[in-house]
Amino acid sequence: MDHSFLIKPMLDDIYPVIDYGKGIYLFDMDGKRYLDGASGAVTANIGHGVTEIIEAMNEQAKKVSFVYRSQFTSEAAESLAEKIANMLPGDLNWCFFVNSGSEATETAMKMAIQYWQEKGVQTKTKVLSRWVSYHGITLGALSMSGHPGRRARFVSLLEDFPVINPPYCYRCPYNLKEANCGYLCAHELETAIKRIGAEQIAAFIAEPVIGAAGGAIVPPKDYYKVIKKICEENDILFIADEVMTGCGRTGTMLACEQWGISPDIVALGKGMGAGYAPIAAAIATEKVIEPILAGTKVVMSGHTLSANPQACATALAVLEYVEQNNIIQEVEGKGAYLRTQLEKLKSLFKFIGDVRGKGLLLGIEFVQDAVSKTPFPRNALITQRIVALAKDKGLLVYPAGAGIDGINGDSIIISPPLTISKKEMEELVHLLKETFNDFS
Ligand code: PLP
Repeated sequence: MDHSFLIKPMLDDIYPVIDYGKGIYLFDMDGKRYLDGASGAVTANIGHGVTEIIEAMNEQAKKVSFVYRSQFTSEAAESLAEKIANMLPGDLNWCFFVNSGSEATETAMKMAIQYWQEKGVQTKTKVLSRWVSYHGITLGALSMSGHPGRRARFVSLLEDFPVINPPYCYRCPYNLKEANCGYLCAHELETAIKRIGAEQIAAFIAEPVIGAAGGAIVPPKDYYKVIKKICEENDILFIADEVMTGCGRTGTMLACEQWGISPDIVALGKGMGAGYAPIAAAIATEKVIEPILAGTKVVMSGHTLSANPQACATALAVLEYVEQNNIIQEVEGKGAYLRTQLEKLKSLFKFIGDVRGKGLLLGIEFVQDAVSKTPFPRNALITQRIVALAKDKGLLVYPAGAGIDGINGDSIIISPPLTISKKEMEELVHLLKETFNDFS
């Protein structure tokens, strides 16, 4: 399988070849079993090899797999749009289907700019964001991403959209405690808007829980209320990037619901197709779509495979499965249990600085010294070593950034399929403990 090297991020890595998946496990060609403790990249939300999804995929394949979006719509796409509108809070009713999370956030960005253009405002073309964030790898999405490592090689092609500090209480940029912090990091948005000019800014985008760049960083209680108020006072749309947090991962369909705010545009991906198909969506409220429908009438974006019937039928089956099996309702309880078990590891291993997260999107930050929170040196490659050790033991965890710049820090994300049982969570924690034992 040497010819597959082009898909490997590191050319000297030996990648096992996967044979099949079942439930929360993957099995390679040598028969080795891996507990999928990260759902791949926080994607396989309902686990692997679910019969109902495979059947729905076959049924759609028998009917039609592809129609072009400017010639036809399909029953699968229409039903999926309706299902999503019903599952999402408020009037997030207008779905634009794409193939990846990066396309979803980039479409959301374009929708926001187009919204203002249709209203006759041509100057609002910037989309502000935070440092320690990841919104995708394509150039528009990367422009919004406060991820220095992923931006570095392409800075000349990128807009400087990240402008404010993240709500990273473990490493508060102001050294304050949450109870009396006054949400200074949220108020930075006000200062940035004054500096840049509200007339230039179409939207502000944020991941409700910071994922790949920070390792499941959860903002404090009223953070998003402050952010939303600042957006509203300045005529700036709020885009929730729920590519990682959406579709039940944190215990509600959207993580935003837990902060009591409703976004103007939402990006979904990952768990929407749960890895069974490449599909994602940008979803707009009535307010956002109204001037677009009254004006140009189309969202000025799209891909050949947008709203692909095969992918839509698959995502529809996934969301129906999630609903019928009450999967989201169980996330809070499972997440609380898993988090408690992970917190117990903290007292055993001095290099665990922080255990955090929401629902089944949990993170562990590693530090050299838990009291001073001193990060390990960059060249110690701590995250990479821990991820590799875990994989040897048959446990998959997801490497994430950490540190106030999203680079100088180490963390992993633990985000098993939402269908994980208590016994399987115990096995996950056991394998993690063995990994940490080997590491220390
Ligand atoms: N937004 C968030 C919050 C993500 O976590 C990711 C991927 O990790 C993306 C966007 C990009 O999604 P994709 O890799 O499907 O393009």
